[in-house]
Amino acid sequence: LDRNNFLKDQNTLHQFHPMTHPLISREHRPQIIVDSDGCYVTDIDGNRMVDGLGGLWNVNVGHNRAEVKAAIVKQMDRISYYSSFAGTATAPSIELSARVCQMGATEEVDKVMFSANGSDAVETALKLARQYWKLVGEPMRTKFISLKQGYHGVHFGGLSVNGTPYYRTVYEPLLPGCFQIDTPWTYRNPYSEDPAELTNAVITQLERTIYHEGAGTIAAFIAEPIQGAGGVIVPPADFWPRLRAVCDQHGILLIADEVVTGFGRSGSMFGSRGWGVKPDIMCLAKGITSGYVPLGATTLNKRVASAWYDGFTPEGVIMHGYTSTGHPLACAAALAVLDIVEGEDLPGNAARMGERLMAGLKPLAETCSVVGEVRGKGLMIGLDFVSDKKTRTPIDPGTGIVERIAGYAREKGAIVRPAGSVIILSPPLVIGEAEIDVIIDALTYGCARYDAETRA
Ligand code: PMP
Repeated sequence: LDRNNFLKDQNTLHQFHPMTHPLISREHRPQIIVDSDGCYVTDIDGNRMVDGLGGLWNVNVGHNRAEVKAAIVKQMDRISYYSSFAGTATAPSIELSARVCQMGATEEVDKVMFSANGSDAVETALKLARQYWKLVGEPMRTKFISLKQGYHGVHFGGLSVNGTPYYRTVYEPLLPGCFQIDTPWTYRNPYSEDPAELTNAVITQLERTIYHEGAGTIAAFIAEPIQGAGGVIVPPADFWPRLRAVCDQHGILLIADEVVTGFGRSGSMFGSRGWGVKPDIMCLAKGITSGYVPLGATTLNKRVASAWYDGFTPEGVIMHGYTSTGHPLACAAALAVLDIVEGEDLPGNAARMGERLMAGLKPLAETCSVVGEVRGKGLMIGLDFVSDKKTRTPIDPGTGIVERIAGYAREKGAIVRPAGSVIILSPPLVIGEAEIDVIIDALTYGCARYDAETRA
C-alpha cells in the first residue's frame, strides 16, 4: 500500500467524514497533517507550518513532547484502562484530582469528576447542578441562564445553553427552561461602547430574567470567561465580578466553562481567576491534556460537593459516569502536561506572546478594508471581518473571503482558523517570538493580497 497515494485518493477521502460542510469536504480534500514538533505541524505534502490554532485551542504545551509521550507509555506498561464503577479506581485519576484541586480551579475545589470531552464536562456540570438543588431541598431550581454567542459543546444539555441558534436549531426540541441574555460585547451590542455602561445593561437584563422567572427556579448561570467559538469575545473587566455578585444574591450556582480558557490560554491559569472570580463549578477539557489524549473534568467547590457528602440520601446517588471516566492514560498525560504548564509558566508566556501577537495584528484594523476589529486576551485572538466598517456588519461567510485570506496565510507558513466571519488564533502556549512573527507576517500578507486583488 502506497500510504500517501491511498490517503490522497478521492474515493478513500469520500469515506472520511470531517466535521465540515458536506459539500465543501466533497470538493476539497482536507490538508492531512502527518507530523509535528513544538509549534509546527507538517502536512502530507511536506509543508511545515506554524500551528496558529494549537490543534483546536488545546495543544498548549506544543506537539510531540517527550515528557507527555513517556508518561503515557509508562502508564501503558502498568495498566491502560480499568473501570471506576466496581469500587475500583486507577492511580493517575486520583493523583490528577488532587492536582487540579491544589491548582485551585474553584474556591476550595473539593471534587473532580472526569469524562472524555468538553461536551461531557458541560453535561456533567448541568446535571450535577440540578441534582445539587434536589439534595438541598429546592427541587424547583432547574433552569439555566447563559449568554448569546456562548458555546458549550454538542450534547443536548450543552446545545440547550449554547447561545448561537446556528448550532441548535436543527436538533430541537431541546431542554426547556434555558434562557440566553446578551453577551457583554463592546464591538457589537445595542447599548453602549462604554464598558461600564455595557456591563450595567447586561446585568440589568440578567436581573430582569431572574425576576421574571423567579430566582427559586434557576439552577445555574453558565458562561465562558472569554467566549471562544462565538468569535473570541472578551467581556468588560467588571462583568464577571458583577455576575458573581448577582448569582450570590439569588443563590444561583455559577458555572465557568473553562474548556478553552483553563490552564493558561488567556494569560492566567484559569480565565475566571483572571477576572478575580471563583465559580462554584468549572468545566475543563482541551488544555488539561494538551490534546494528547481526550479528557474532560468537572470541578465542584465545597458548597456544591457538600450536598452529596453531608448526610447521604438515596437522591445523592450520581447516575452519571462514562466508561472512560478517569481514564488512566489520559490522566497520566494530564499530570505530565500540568508539570509543563506550571514548570514553564505557560500562562505567563501566553500573556507576553499574546501582547506581541495583538500588537502585530492591530494595525490590520486600519490597513485592511475588511478587518473591523482585532481583539483578544492572552493567546486567544480574533480578527473580525466586516462588509462595512461603519455599521460593523459581519462579512457574509458565503463570500469565502475569510477562507481566502486564511488560505493566503497558510501559503506563508501559518495555519489559522476561519470560523464564520472571524479568523481565530490560538497557538500553542509555548510559542516564541519567531513563530508569533510568522503568524503576524502571514496574516498581514493575506490581508494585503486580498485588498490588492479586489482593487485590481
Ligand atoms: N465548551 C467550550 C467553551 C468549548 O470551546 C468546547 C469545544 N470547542 C466545548 C465546550 C466542547 O468540547 P468538546 O469539543 O471537547 O466536546
